[in-house]
Amino acid sequence: MSRKIYIYDTTLRDGMQGLGVNFSLKDKIEITEKLDEMQVDYIEGGFPMASEKEAAYFEEFKKKPLKFARLVAFGSTRGPGKSAGSDPHIQALLNAGTPAVTIVGKSWLAHVDKVLKTSKEENLAMITDSISYFKAKGKEVIFDLEHFFDGYKAHPEYSIEVLKAATEAGADANVLCDTNGGTLPSEVIKIITGLPENLAPIGVHFHDDCGTAVANSLVGIDAGANHIQGTINGWGERTGNANLCSIIPDLCLKTDYDLSLKENLSQITSLSRFLFEKANIIPQKRQPYVGEAAFSHKAGQHADVLQKASELMEHVSGESVGNSRQILLSELAGKSTIVRKLEKYGEFDKKSSQVSELLTILKEKEADGYEYEAAEASFDLVARKTLGIYTPLLELNNYHLESYKTGGIPSKTVGRIYLTSEGKQLMGAGVGIGPVETLDASMRDALKLFHPFLDKISLIDYKVRVLNPEQAAAAKVRVFITSTDHSHSWDTVGVSENIVEASWEALVDSLEYYYNNFAKE
Ligand SMILES: [Zn+2]
Repeated sequence: MSRKIYIYDTTLRDGMQGLGVNFSLKDKIEITEKLDEMQVDYIEGGFPMASEKEAAYFEEFKKKPLKFARLVAFGSTRGPGKSAGSDPHIQALLNAGTPAVTIVGKSWLAHVDKVLKTSKEENLAMITDSISYFKAKGKEVIFDLEHFFDGYKAHPEYSIEVLKAATEAGADANVLCDTNGGTLPSEVIKIITGLPENLAPIGVHFHDDCGTAVANSLVGIDAGANHIQGTINGWGERTGNANLCSIIPDLCLKTDYDLSLKENLSQITSLSRFLFEKANIIPQKRQPYVGEAAFSHKAGQHADVLQKASELMEHVSGESVGNSRQILLSELAGKSTIVRKLEKYGEFDKKSSQVSELLTILKEKEADGYEYEAAEASFDLVARKTLGIYTPLLELNNYHLESYKTGGIPSKTVGRIYLTSEGKQLMGAGVGIGPVETLDASMRDALKLFHPFLDKISLIDYKVRVLNPEQAAAAKVRVFITSTDHSHSWDTVGVSENIVEASWEALVDSLEYYYNNFAKE
């Protein structure tokens, strides 16, 4: 049997230390569900002591535990001179109610001295007390050795003492962290293969400061580690963490190691893009495997060879990771994704005319700048229209918006809308600060009498992305709107050269999605 390798995702904790990476509570919950669907082994949800948002996140998963992955709460060992039972950090970790906890401790003597300002014996006691405390509470305990590689280079004997102490205290994994990211693959091999036997299983956690985090992780596994910590899209502090979007395909497609998520590898491109959308960061085209350019070829001879024998021009197939040679979803990957998404409306065959028609529509829409990975509700409406099970909530006759700005006084927008809904001609008016708010208010004003469900719905997030920045003011914008009825939430998308028009599309989709799925009597 090939050796089992565990994937540990820390996007929601270490990844969020990255420049420009920010997720709302709802984003974090949705990302966790996607990672769980992919069957990532461990998902580090965050640091329960950090904020109310983090605490609320863990509360959410007490109510609905994950299907596959083990949720992990992250924190540090007890403080110097305290007891584990009375340390508030340890208690917050325990209260997170997760099956596993990761605690970070010092393994570099210089940090024990200068940062913790305690003795090397007390540092060992802090580690062993904290681990035994959680083991006694029935938790799986992952121990992160901060600055392990630097510590080992300075005082190997002390770093090994820390590993042995953690093992004896019952740690389920000792994770060697390259916190400053300064270690090279050759050093990783030498250090890991030189470790004593009979330690708890080894994990690795690399940062990309030398541009070698993925390589270090792979050689770490070959040298004997069985657990890799990394982030989706390689996000993380400074230059980032080891990129799981490279490591996972590398291990699944090019080695014999056994990974739980092997069967789901084709979800990884969509997962990567989903996270870019949620973080409102432009996807990195040149990312290995999952980037738009990963399987792109210039026309001419290359393309010709591709037609005849693609294996001569590509190291793996784009479909294996859910990416494709074209910029859009490929025929095959696209159809199976669509069939999976249509499951709630019945069983559809990949060859059916409805699936083909939907794929054609989606390709056109995507070429126009629509993105459905993070706008499932808009996708649902496109699917309903194709399947003939869509009921329009409204038809626009016209709207009129006027924005005012005088001197230093805040701006104001007034608006009027004429529309038809269920055969009735309706008029609404609204006032707001900006045009989108005013448009939303006017539309609700027109519809509220006949559609009281609107009262339950509110807009909770609004994101704008410029699609072709080289066009300056004439560029297209893509708007994402998140709405909620306070028991669940959904996302919609709109695209136009005009930001008000793009917002209008996403607003109408938002209400029509609810109308079609929940509100219709
Ligand atoms: Zn880190």
